[in-house]
Amino acid sequence: MTLGDLKYCSFCANSLVLKIFDGKKRHYCSNCKRFTFLNPKLVSIGLIVQSEKLLLVKRNLEPGKGEWAIPGGYVDQGEIVENALIREIFEETGFHTNVLGLIGIYSQLNESVVVAAYGAKLIGGTKNENSPEVQAVEFFSFNDLPTLAFPRDKDIIADWKRWLINYKK
Ligand SMILES: [Zn+2]
Repeated sequence: MTLGDLKYCSFCANSLVLKIFDGKKRHYCSNCKRFTFLNPKLVSIGLIVQSEKLLLVKRNLEPGKGEWAIPGGYVDQGEIVENALIREIFEETGFHTNVLGLIGIYSQLNESVVVAAYGAKLIGGTKNENSPEVQAVEFFSFNDLPTLAFPRDKDIIADWKRWLINYKK
């Protein structure tokens, strides 16, 4: 994933040009005489463990199609972030969860997606692999994790292990 791009003004459909504003190239409509600012896209993901095993999903979407990732997805505008997490995990895995707490916010230079990683707890439901977004749903031992789609997920898992120690105190 990289930064998003825009071709047309969403108000008048005029072609946008790039113009410097605040020291950065921004999308500008010469017809409306206004800039369009691109915001980060928020994704929430949940680390869920059961019987010492971590819940992962095999992605059916690019990027990382066919590889494993921590379950979660995009937060809709106006949606409570924790509710988005519960919704996405249910859609992708069939499991109901409670959110325990925030592990951290993860962002990268020149990357449009910002990830909010939460510790979560499985409270019910049954495994469902019918979501069009995933190929499979599986629990993995920590010493036998599959290849992860996103390099950041390794760091998030390490942070979550440290976070969990404090959470349990
Ligand atoms: Zn316009």
